[in-house]
Amino acid sequence: MARYIFVTGGVVSSLGKGLSSASLAYLLQSRGYRVRLRKLDPYLNIDPGTMSPFQHGEVFVTDDGAETDLDLGHYERFSGISAKKSDNITTGKIYSDVLKKERQGGYLGKTVQVIPHITDRIKDFIKNDTSKEDFIICEIGGIVGDIESLPFVEAIRQFANDVNKRNALFIHLTLVPYLRASDEIKTKPTQHSVKELRSLGIQPDIIICRSERPIPLDHRKKISLFCNVDIKNVIQTVDVKTIYEAPISFNRENLDKQVLEYFKIKTRKKVNLNPWKKITKTVLHTKKSINIAIIGKYVDLKDAYKSLDEALTHGGIDNNLKINLMRIDSETLKVSEIKKKLKDVSGILIPGGFGKRGTEGKIEAIKYAREKKIPFFGICFGMQMAIIEFARNKLNIKNANSSEFGTGGVPIIGLINEWNRYGKLIKGTDKDLGGTMRLGLYDAKLKENSLVKKIYKSKLIKERHRHRYEVNISYKEKFEKNGLIFSGLSPDNKLPEIIELKNHPWFVAVQFHPEFKSRPLAPHPLFSSFIKAAKNHK
Ligand code: GLN
Repeated sequence: MARYIFVTGGVVSSLGKGLSSASLAYLLQSRGYRVRLRKLDPYLNIDPGTMSPFQHGEVFVTDDGAETDLDLGHYERFSGISAKKSDNITTGKIYSDVLKKERQGGYLGKTVQVIPHITDRIKDFIKNDTSKEDFIICEIGGIVGDIESLPFVEAIRQFANDVNKRNALFIHLTLVPYLRASDEIKTKPTQHSVKELRSLGIQPDIIICRSERPIPLDHRKKISLFCNVDIKNVIQTVDVKTIYEAPISFNRENLDKQVLEYFKIKTRKKVNLNPWKKITKTVLHTKKSINIAIIGKYVDLKDAYKSLDEALTHGGIDNNLKINLMRIDSETLKVSEIKKKLKDVSGILIPGGFGKRGTEGKIEAIKYAREKKIPFFGICFGMQMAIIEFARNKLNIKNANSSEFGTGGVPIIGLINEWNRYGKLIKGTDKDLGGTMRLGLYDAKLKENSLVKKIYKSKLIKERHRHRYEVNISYKEKFEKNGLIFSGLSPDNKLPEIIELKNHPWFVAVQFHPEFKSRPLAPHPLFSSFIKAAKNHK
């Protein structure tokens, strides 16, 4: 039977619940157990798909086409397990399911209430679509005490009783601040947060204390005493220099050992920390670095391109290089400044994006990369912009455009909302914005003798998509005659998936998002190859 581990947060948000859950998943997995990670988000959106990255950071896409919280990206990168649609739920989705059932008369005349109907739906989600897992780790978004997270906290309290408390473990992550002025570490916020949690009926079994410096034993004893938690289960997590150190640090503090001890399970295997030790060493000690420019609209928010930043770092690790990411705002990028701004870069990347704002800056930057033979990587919107640039400047279609920006111009990029996925027709709709794009894993076949075929070392690839517009295939011949090759196509030959330039050291653009599949222990080949080309550029 599966054991359930619930991870809640206290004091402040952004303490690293996702990273803690992901590290624990790696450690348990490395000890020989099957693990699944899930995220319960308290906001009212049905999924984060319609949210601006400024609001909530990147939208992470799963193989099966769910638009999810970016924490699922952490989960995948650390545990290596591909997340599924059934691994992320929001208050909005729960309410919408319950209300739909109510309209269908599914509650047989009863008054529909938060308890038990909403909490029951949450409990169904926690158990749903699991099979042979040994552990299900569920992270509750937000912090304890938020009005929005109350039904979740209540649901997990009930859940632990339903499965017998022996099979459920509560981990609470809090902040233990250090006050410089008085040179003191403070345990009071943790005590208060646990008090809040206990007032909701949950006694934490393990407290993870996030701190910027080591927490002395007497302070940990105080937390143990006031919060009613065994001292062995008061676990400190001191800020690490790189996130790749997190599994090592949690193991050092015995998190996985204490979890197994709680469930009275004997360990199957010794934890293997060598891969993390190796990449931590590379990340911390590599001296050589290169500059990569990311030209996008959401550059001010650190998490807006989370998977992309990670994938570039993975490419750097693979090439023994530090990557300095230069984030350039495409909306303020003036054509006259491009040369100056991109003077010291070894590679240029245009990421995914939506809407017309900032596109002219992107198109100019692509022209610069193409003409100056600087390694260029276009992702999704980046590929569409590369197509428009080439059409305007090389094919002389001066008003080449995307129908995403209105009806003016020649729609080299057009709206398509029917896609063939493994023999099944997937339909989008233009009424709803949420969940109606081409989403998730689709196949692409790679052209013989192309650069991408060499990079992937495969004829057929599967990559994750998230877009509504497509490059118009009818221009293929025209592009190819002028040196821009459609080197990846959908199996039915209808949709361009990858383009590359002849006579350029590295100019590749893809309609999908390879960054979602890159992992520190298995860097994505496109990112490794792009960084290698950038390294050779200067
Ligand atoms: N806006 C473009 C589309 O919908 C690209 C989306 C993206 O880059 N993810 O097709």
